[in-house]
Amino acid sequence: MDNFQISVVVPVYNEEKNIQVFFEKIIKVIKKYQYELIFVSDGSTDKSEEIIKKICLKNKNVKLISFTRNFGHQMALFAGYEFSKGDGIISIDADLQDPPELIDKMIGLWQKGAKIVYAKREKRKGESFFKIITAKLFYKLINFLSDTSIPSEVGDFRLLDKSVVFYLKNLKEKPEFLRGLVSWPGFKTEFVYFKRDKRYSGKTHYTLEKMINLAFNGITSFSTKPLRLSTYFGFMVSTTAVLIVFFKSVQHFIFNQGDWLPGWASLFFSTVFLGGVQLIMIGVLGEYIAKIYREIQKRPNYLIKEKINL
Ligand code: UDP
Ligand code: MG
Repeated sequence: MDNFQISVVVPVYNEEKNIQVFFEKIIKVIKKYQYELIFVSDGSTDKSEEIIKKICLKNKNVKLISFTRNFGHQMALFAGYEFSKGDGIISIDADLQDPPELIDKMIGLWQKGAKIVYAKREKRKGESFFKIITAKLFYKLINFLSDTSIPSEVGDFRLLDKSVVFYLKNLKEKPEFLRGLVSWPGFKTEFVYFKRDKRYSGKTHYTLEKMINLAFNGITSFSTKPLRLSTYFGFMVSTTAVLIVFFKSVQHFIFNQGDWLPGWASLFFSTVFLGGVQLIMIGVLGEYIAKIYREIQKRPNYLIKEKINL
Protein backbone atom coordinates (compact mmCIF):
# COMPACT_ATOMS: atom_id res chain seq x y z
CA MET A 1 0.00 0.00 0.00
CA ASP A 2 1.10 3.58 -0.54
CA ASN A 3 2.81 5.30 2.28
CA PHE A 4 0.13 7.35 3.95
CA GLN A 5 -1.84 7.29 7.14
CA ILE A 6 -5.53 8.01 7.49
CA SER A 7 -7.34 9.36 10.54
CA VAL A 8 -11.00 8.63 11.00
CA VAL A 9 -12.86 11.03 13.29
CA VAL A 10 -16.16 9.89 14.78
CA PRO A 11 -18.27 12.26 16.90
CA VAL A 12 -20.32 10.28 19.38
CA TYR A 13 -23.19 11.46 21.50
CA ASN A 14 -25.04 8.66 23.24
CA GLU A 15 -24.64 5.98 20.59
CA GLU A 16 -24.24 2.90 22.82
CA LYS A 17 -26.25 0.67 20.52
CA ASN A 18 -24.37 1.72 17.39
CA ILE A 19 -20.71 1.77 18.33
CA GLN A 20 -19.90 -1.94 18.27
CA VAL A 21 -21.59 -2.52 14.92
CA PHE A 22 -20.08 0.64 13.51
CA PHE A 23 -16.62 -0.40 14.68
CA GLU A 24 -16.89 -3.86 13.12
CA LYS A 25 -17.97 -2.35 9.81
CA ILE A 26 -15.42 0.40 9.59
CA ILE A 27 -12.46 -1.66 10.71
CA LYS A 28 -13.01 -4.02 7.78
CA VAL A 29 -12.54 -1.06 5.46
CA ILE A 30 -9.68 0.77 7.13
CA LYS A 31 -7.48 -2.05 8.36
CA LYS A 32 -5.78 -2.30 4.98
CA TYR A 33 -4.38 1.19 5.52
CA GLN A 34 -2.23 2.66 8.26
CA TYR A 35 -5.00 4.17 10.32
CA GLU A 36 -6.08 5.77 13.54
CA LEU A 37 -9.71 5.79 14.60
CA ILE A 38 -10.57 8.68 16.90
CA PHE A 39 -13.87 8.60 18.75
CA VAL A 40 -14.85 11.92 20.26
CA SER A 41 -17.47 11.49 22.93
CA ASP A 42 -19.38 14.73 23.11
CA GLY A 43 -20.51 14.39 26.72
CA SER A 44 -22.21 11.02 26.26
CA THR A 45 -24.14 9.93 29.33
CA ASP A 46 -24.89 6.36 28.29
CA LYS A 47 -22.47 3.43 27.92
CA SER A 48 -20.79 4.78 24.75
CA GLU A 49 -17.52 5.70 26.46
CA GLU A 50 -17.34 2.38 28.28
CA ILE A 51 -17.77 0.49 25.02
CA ILE A 52 -15.15 2.60 23.23
CA LYS A 53 -12.68 2.13 26.09
CA LYS A 54 -12.99 -1.64 25.76
CA ILE A 55 -12.15 -1.38 22.07
CA CYS A 56 -9.21 0.94 22.89
CA LEU A 57 -7.74 -1.63 25.26
CA LYS A 58 -7.52 -4.21 22.50
CA ASN A 59 -6.49 -1.90 19.69
CA LYS A 60 -4.02 0.94 20.19
CA ASN A 61 -4.99 2.55 16.90
CA VAL A 62 -8.40 3.27 18.35
CA LYS A 63 -8.45 6.45 20.42
CA LEU A 64 -10.91 8.26 22.60
CA ILE A 65 -11.33 11.90 23.50
CA SER A 66 -14.16 12.57 25.91
CA PHE A 67 -15.55 16.00 26.67
CA THR A 68 -16.69 17.17 30.09
CA ARG A 69 -20.16 17.85 28.68
CA ASN A 70 -22.03 18.18 25.40
CA PHE A 71 -20.29 20.86 23.34
CA GLY A 72 -22.02 20.01 20.08
CA HIS A 73 -21.28 18.01 16.98
CA GLN A 74 -19.15 20.72 15.32
CA MET A 75 -16.85 20.97 18.33
CA ALA A 76 -16.54 17.19 18.56
CA LEU A 77 -15.45 17.09 14.92
CA PHE A 78 -13.05 19.93 15.46
CA ALA A 79 -11.42 18.23 18.47
CA GLY A 80 -10.93 15.14 16.31
CA TYR A 81 -9.25 17.29 13.66
CA GLU A 82 -7.00 18.91 16.24
CA PHE A 83 -5.71 15.57 17.50
CA SER A 84 -5.50 13.80 14.15
CA LYS A 85 -2.09 12.86 12.79
CA GLY A 86 -3.06 11.35 9.45
CA ASP A 87 -2.34 12.58 5.93
CA GLY A 88 -6.01 12.24 5.09
CA ILE A 89 -8.71 12.82 7.68
CA ILE A 90 -12.15 11.32 7.30
CA SER A 91 -15.12 12.38 9.42
CA ILE A 92 -18.04 10.01 9.68
CA ASP A 93 -21.10 9.60 11.93
CA ALA A 94 -21.35 6.76 14.41
CA ASP A 95 -24.95 5.85 13.59
CA LEU A 96 -24.17 4.05 10.30
CA GLN A 97 -26.03 6.64 8.24
CA ASP A 98 -22.76 7.17 6.41
CA PRO A 99 -21.60 3.93 4.76
CA PRO A 100 -17.94 3.17 5.64
CA GLU A 101 -17.60 1.30 2.31
CA LEU A 102 -17.38 4.67 0.60
CA ILE A 103 -14.05 5.43 2.24
CA ASP A 104 -12.02 3.46 -0.34
CA LYS A 105 -13.47 5.57 -3.15
CA MET A 106 -12.81 8.77 -1.22
CA ILE A 107 -9.20 7.77 -0.64
CA GLY A 108 -8.86 6.98 -4.34
CA LEU A 109 -9.93 10.49 -5.36
CA TRP A 110 -7.74 12.04 -2.70
CA GLN A 111 -4.74 10.09 -3.97
CA LYS A 112 -5.48 11.47 -7.44
CA GLY A 113 -5.09 15.00 -6.09
CA ALA A 114 -8.36 16.16 -4.52
CA LYS A 115 -7.89 17.98 -1.24
CA ILE A 116 -11.52 17.63 -0.20
CA VAL A 117 -13.74 14.69 -1.03
CA TYR A 118 -17.36 15.10 0.00
CA ALA A 119 -19.87 12.31 0.21
CA LYS A 120 -23.01 13.69 -1.36
CA ARG A 121 -26.44 12.29 -0.55
CA GLU A 122 -28.40 11.22 -3.57
CA LYS A 123 -31.31 9.92 -1.56
CA ARG A 124 -32.20 10.14 2.09
CA LYS A 125 -34.04 7.36 3.78
CA GLY A 126 -35.83 7.56 7.10
CA GLU A 127 -35.58 11.30 7.47
CA SER A 128 -38.64 13.42 7.90
CA PHE A 129 -40.05 15.49 5.05
CA PHE A 130 -39.57 18.50 7.33
CA LYS A 131 -35.85 17.86 7.74
CA ILE A 132 -35.30 17.37 4.02
CA ILE A 133 -37.20 20.53 3.08
CA THR A 134 -35.61 22.72 5.76
CA ALA A 135 -32.14 21.49 4.81
CA LYS A 136 -32.82 22.33 1.13
CA LEU A 137 -34.11 25.78 2.01
CA PHE A 138 -31.19 26.43 4.31
CA TYR A 139 -28.60 25.71 1.58
CA LYS A 140 -30.53 27.84 -0.92
CA LEU A 141 -30.58 30.67 1.60
CA ILE A 142 -26.97 30.47 2.70
CA ASN A 143 -25.74 30.24 -0.87
CA PHE A 144 -27.84 33.26 -1.78
CA LEU A 145 -26.49 35.23 1.18
CA SER A 146 -22.89 34.16 1.14
CA ASP A 147 -20.03 34.57 -1.31
CA THR A 148 -18.63 31.20 -0.27
CA SER A 149 -20.48 28.53 -2.16
CA ILE A 150 -21.40 25.72 0.18
CA PRO A 151 -22.41 22.45 -1.49
CA SER A 152 -25.89 21.19 -0.66
CA GLU A 153 -26.80 17.59 0.17
CA VAL A 154 -23.43 17.31 1.80
CA GLY A 155 -23.13 16.60 5.49
CA ASP A 156 -20.04 16.19 7.59
CA PHE A 157 -19.04 12.90 5.93
CA ARG A 158 -15.91 13.91 4.02
CA LEU A 159 -12.22 13.36 3.57
CA LEU A 160 -9.86 16.28 4.09
CA ASP A 161 -6.24 16.39 3.12
CA LYS A 162 -3.96 17.30 5.99
CA SER A 163 -3.32 20.71 4.43
CA VAL A 164 -7.03 21.53 4.83
CA VAL A 165 -7.00 20.35 8.43
CA PHE A 166 -3.86 22.40 9.04
CA TYR A 167 -5.72 25.49 7.83
CA LEU A 168 -8.70 24.65 10.07
CA LYS A 169 -6.52 24.11 13.15
CA ASN A 170 -4.88 27.48 12.65
CA LEU A 171 -8.08 29.46 12.31
CA LYS A 172 -8.42 32.21 14.86
CA GLU A 173 -12.21 32.11 14.79
CA LYS A 174 -14.56 29.64 16.43
CA PRO A 175 -15.27 26.65 14.19
CA GLU A 176 -19.02 27.01 14.48
CA PHE A 177 -19.86 25.98 10.93
CA LEU A 178 -17.23 23.61 9.61
CA ARG A 179 -19.04 22.96 6.33
CA GLY A 180 -18.57 26.59 5.41
CA LEU A 181 -15.04 26.86 6.70
CA VAL A 182 -14.03 23.81 4.68
CA SER A 183 -15.40 25.33 1.44
CA TRP A 184 -14.09 28.83 2.04
CA PRO A 185 -10.46 28.47 0.81
CA GLY A 186 -11.44 26.82 -2.48
CA PHE A 187 -9.30 23.69 -2.29
CA LYS A 188 -9.65 21.17 -5.12
CA THR A 189 -12.88 19.32 -4.43
CA GLU A 190 -14.39 16.01 -5.55
CA PHE A 191 -17.60 14.21 -4.75
CA VAL A 192 -18.67 10.63 -4.20
CA TYR A 193 -22.37 9.78 -4.14
CA PHE A 194 -24.40 7.63 -1.80
CA LYS A 195 -27.87 6.86 -0.57
CA ARG A 196 -28.19 7.88 3.05
CA ASP A 197 -29.68 5.14 5.16
CA LYS A 198 -31.78 5.26 8.27
CA ARG A 199 -30.03 5.42 11.61
CA TYR A 200 -29.00 1.96 12.76
CA SER A 201 -30.36 2.58 16.25
CA GLY A 202 -31.75 5.46 18.28
CA LYS A 203 -33.05 8.86 17.26
CA THR A 204 -31.37 11.91 15.79
CA HIS A 205 -29.57 14.14 18.29
CA TYR A 206 -30.02 17.10 16.05
CA THR A 207 -33.03 18.66 17.69
CA LEU A 208 -34.85 21.51 15.99
CA GLU A 209 -33.04 23.87 18.37
CA LYS A 210 -29.62 22.53 17.37
CA MET A 211 -30.54 22.81 13.69
CA ILE A 212 -31.66 26.42 14.13
CA ASN A 213 -28.45 27.18 16.00
CA LEU A 214 -26.34 25.68 13.26
CA ALA A 215 -28.28 27.63 10.63
CA PHE A 216 -27.85 30.98 12.40
CA ASN A 217 -24.17 30.31 13.13
CA GLY A 218 -23.67 29.35 9.51
CA ILE A 219 -25.27 32.52 8.19
CA THR A 220 -23.59 34.91 10.62
CA SER A 221 -20.22 33.25 9.99
CA PHE A 222 -20.44 33.53 6.23
CA SER A 223 -22.45 36.56 5.35
CA THR A 224 -23.18 40.10 6.46
CA LYS A 225 -25.82 40.48 3.79
CA PRO A 226 -28.73 40.24 6.26
CA LEU A 227 -27.50 43.54 7.74
CA ARG A 228 -27.35 45.12 4.31
CA LEU A 229 -30.79 43.76 3.47
CA SER A 230 -32.20 45.48 6.56
CA THR A 231 -30.82 48.77 5.31
CA TYR A 232 -32.32 48.29 1.84
CA PHE A 233 -35.61 47.31 3.34
CA GLY A 234 -35.61 50.38 5.59
CA PHE A 235 -35.09 52.62 2.56
CA MET A 236 -37.82 50.86 0.62
CA VAL A 237 -40.36 51.22 3.41
CA SER A 238 -39.53 54.86 4.11
CA THR A 239 -39.72 55.74 0.42
CA THR A 240 -43.09 54.04 0.11
CA ALA A 241 -44.39 55.93 3.15
CA VAL A 242 -43.26 59.29 1.74
CA LEU A 243 -44.85 58.51 -1.63
CA ILE A 244 -48.17 57.48 -0.10
CA VAL A 245 -48.36 60.62 2.04
CA PHE A 246 -47.48 62.73 -0.98
CA PHE A 247 -50.17 61.24 -3.23
CA LYS A 248 -52.78 61.30 -0.50
CA SER A 249 -52.04 64.97 0.16
CA VAL A 250 -52.27 65.87 -3.49
CA GLN A 251 -55.55 63.97 -3.73
CA HIS A 252 -56.97 65.72 -0.67
CA PHE A 253 -55.71 69.28 -0.93
CA ILE A 254 -55.58 69.81 -4.65
CA PHE A 255 -58.41 67.64 -5.93
CA ASN A 256 -60.50 67.64 -2.76
CA GLN A 257 -61.04 63.93 -3.03
CA GLY A 258 -60.36 60.75 -1.18
CA ASP A 259 -61.16 59.63 2.32
CA TRP A 260 -58.95 61.49 4.73
CA LEU A 261 -60.18 60.04 8.03
CA PRO A 262 -61.21 56.39 7.61
CA GLY A 263 -58.14 54.28 7.24
CA TRP A 264 -57.96 52.32 10.42
CA ALA A 265 -57.00 49.11 8.68
CA SER A 266 -54.09 50.58 6.79
CA LEU A 267 -52.81 52.39 9.89
CA PHE A 268 -53.12 49.28 11.99
CA PHE A 269 -51.42 47.17 9.37
CA SER A 270 -48.51 49.52 8.83
CA THR A 271 -47.89 50.00 12.56
CA VAL A 272 -47.94 46.32 13.42
CA PHE A 273 -46.11 45.29 10.28
CA LEU A 274 -43.37 47.84 10.81
CA GLY A 275 -43.15 46.94 14.49
CA GLY A 276 -42.54 43.34 13.47
CA VAL A 277 -40.00 44.31 10.84
CA GLN A 278 -38.12 46.44 13.37
CA LEU A 279 -38.01 43.60 15.88
CA ILE A 280 -36.70 41.23 13.23
CA MET A 281 -34.01 43.70 12.24
CA ILE A 282 -32.97 44.15 15.87
CA GLY A 283 -32.83 40.36 16.10
CA VAL A 284 -30.60 40.21 13.02
CA LEU A 285 -28.29 42.82 14.53
CA GLY A 286 -28.36 40.85 17.77
CA GLU A 287 -27.19 37.69 16.02
CA TYR A 288 -24.06 39.44 14.83
CA ILE A 289 -23.46 41.04 18.22
CA ALA A 290 -23.84 37.61 19.83
CA LYS A 291 -21.29 36.24 17.40
CA ILE A 292 -18.82 39.03 18.26
CA TYR A 293 -19.52 38.45 21.94
CA ARG A 294 -18.75 34.73 21.70
CA GLU A 295 -15.56 35.49 19.82
CA ILE A 296 -14.22 38.06 22.28
CA GLN A 297 -14.99 35.90 25.29
CA LYS A 298 -12.32 33.57 23.94
CA ARG A 299 -13.66 30.61 25.87
CA PRO A 300 -12.20 27.27 24.83
CA ASN A 301 -14.13 25.45 22.12
CA TYR A 302 -14.42 22.35 24.31
CA LEU A 303 -12.97 20.85 27.48
CA ILE A 304 -11.52 17.37 27.66
CA LYS A 305 -12.23 15.08 30.57
CA GLU A 306 -10.19 12.11 29.43
CA LYS A 307 -8.00 10.91 26.56
CA ILE A 308 -7.12 7.33 25.73
CA ASN A 309 -4.33 6.10 23.42
CA LEU A 310 -3.55 9.71 22.57
N1 UDP B 1 -23.43 14.19 17.73
C1 UDP B 1 -22.52 14.79 18.61
N2 UDP B 1 -22.95 15.80 19.42
C2 UDP B 1 -24.24 16.27 19.38
C3 UDP B 1 -25.15 15.69 18.45
C4 UDP B 1 -24.70 14.66 17.63
O1 UDP B 1 -21.35 14.40 18.67
O2 UDP B 1 -24.56 17.18 20.14
C5 UDP B 1 -22.96 13.07 16.86
C6 UDP B 1 -23.87 11.85 16.82
O3 UDP B 1 -23.52 10.91 17.81
C7 UDP B 1 -23.63 11.30 15.41
C8 UDP B 1 -23.34 12.56 14.61
O4 UDP B 1 -22.94 13.56 15.55
O5 UDP B 1 -22.50 10.46 15.35
C9 UDP B 1 -24.54 13.03 13.81
O6 UDP B 1 -25.64 13.25 14.67
P1 UDP B 1 -27.11 12.72 14.36
O7 UDP B 1 -27.05 11.36 13.76
O8 UDP B 1 -27.91 12.86 15.60
O9 UDP B 1 -27.60 13.79 13.29
P2 UDP B 1 -28.36 13.53 11.90
O10 UDP B 1 -27.66 12.38 11.22
O11 UDP B 1 -29.76 13.19 12.26
O12 UDP B 1 -28.23 14.82 11.17
MG1 MG C 1 -27.34 10.56 12.00
